[in-house]
Amino acid sequence: RQAGFPSDKRLEGFDYRHQTTITKRQINALLDFAFLDNRENLVFIGPPGVGKTHLSIGIGQKAIEAGYRVLFRNALDLVEELELAEMKGELKKTLHKLAKVDALVIDELGYLPMSRQARYALFQLINRFYEHRSLIITTNKDFTSWGEFFHDDNVAVPIVDRIIHHSHLYLLGGESYRLKQKTLS
Ligand code: ADP
Ligand code: MG
Repeated sequence: RQAGFPSDKRLEGFDYRHQTTITKRQINALLDFAFLDNRENLVFIGPPGVGKTHLSIGIGQKAIEAGYRVLFRNALDLVEELELAEMKGELKKTLHKLAKVDALVIDELGYLPMSRQARYALFQLINRFYEHRSLIITTNKDFTSWGEFFHDDNVAVPIVDRIIHHSHLYLLGGESYRLKQKTLS
């Protein structure tokens, strides 16, 4: 799959009766893709299993259908890709390639700590995208703990700052859908 989606998740398959901390109206409001035209970001924050990845893939698919270019990356894979590019002296080229899309989905940002080099590479990417391209981010951290995740160094604050500026934040809660499925079987 060209966009790199790890699985085929459709917005049509999203059950808002299970996930009640976000409404269908809120998600549908995004589907005019003004947020992409305005270079705004989406950030889905919440514990595991509440539908963050499903929603980002679903929105990404719809954006592609509407003619936008979308790329999906797991945060760790993305950072590895950037670090490798940096080692080869090709970071600029890689960032240029990534910034050709209208939206980059970064899934599971903040799940594991990153090295200083990784944070620096990520900072370059965030900078490159800032007010130029959109990011769709899923994370299990709220922004107050992001400083800790980025080890409070001088790169953390501008990363978080640039992500939140021009962002739509969605705090998701509730029961894990995975657990619900487990109890049904
Ligand atoms: P998260 O990224 O928040 O950890 P996922 O989006 O990966 O969670 O959801 C876990 C699984 O449950 C996926 O298979 C997803 O399709 C499904 N799922 C989660 N929430 C819903 C929902 N409200 N309606 C339908 N399927 C859901
Ligand atoms: Mg997920």
